[in-house]
Amino acid sequence: SDSHFPVPVSPCHVDYCLHYPQHFPSSDQTFNSKIQFADIGCGFGGLLISLSTLFPKTLMIGMELRDKVTEYVKERILALRVENPGQYQNVSVVRTNSMKYIPNYFEKGQLSKMFFLFPDPHFKEKNHRRRVISPHLLDEYAYTLCIGGIIYTITDVEELGEWMKDCLEGHPMFEAVRDEELEADPVVKLLSSATEEGQKVARNGGHTFQAVYKRVVPSL
Ligand code: SAM
Repeated sequence: SDSHFPVPVSPCHVDYCLHYPQHFPSSDQTFNSKIQFADIGCGFGGLLISLSTLFPKTLMIGMELRDKVTEYVKERILALRVENPGQYQNVSVVRTNSMKYIPNYFEKGQLSKMFFLFPDPHFKEKNHRRRVISPHLLDEYAYTLCIGGIIYTITDVEELGEWMKDCLEGHPMFEAVRDEELEADPVVKLLSSATEEGQKVARNGGHTFQAVYKRVVPSL
């Protein structure tokens, strides 16, 4: 249960020294001092590892509910830091329930990217409330993202893909990212290739359904 892991009481209580020891306390002014990317339900961390070198000046974190999986990702990051001195210092992971504690980790408008890659489908209608994308949780994600910030979602479950798209389409603070922008965004290519789940789907020749939306100011 949630009582087994600590939760910061507010975003200013997140221990940056613990997550990013090489950068905190920091004198490097070129470094954006707050976490900007969050991979929700990061699993084994493949996306974060790819993003870490693509955006070396950006702090990013994975949020994962399973204890053992979180520990694995921690070890994976530590090993990469040892093997590649100076690299992977901008990436970390935390064990938490993202459906409850996102506001404890991030301030209003703090994040520029949020990832929901291959989330659990929760097929039965009575379990739809457990889905990590829902109209109510999108309010929270809209609060956490900066204007222009992007939510990336992908799944191999068509029904869930439709659901995520419908939720995003119906929300006044999100707008679909245009095709030209999607093509120019190097992160989009990683959605299906960088995570362990994405690789499994690709190996099995499965289809994927993605929805990428931007946080906008609602028009009156
Ligand atoms: N994104 C990864 C990938 O693409 O390989 C993992 C996908 S896996 C199917 C879904 C992950 O979300 C699992 O690791 C699960 O433990 C995690 N998860 C489910 N509910 C969660 C929650 N409320 N908070 C944080 N993580 C959660």
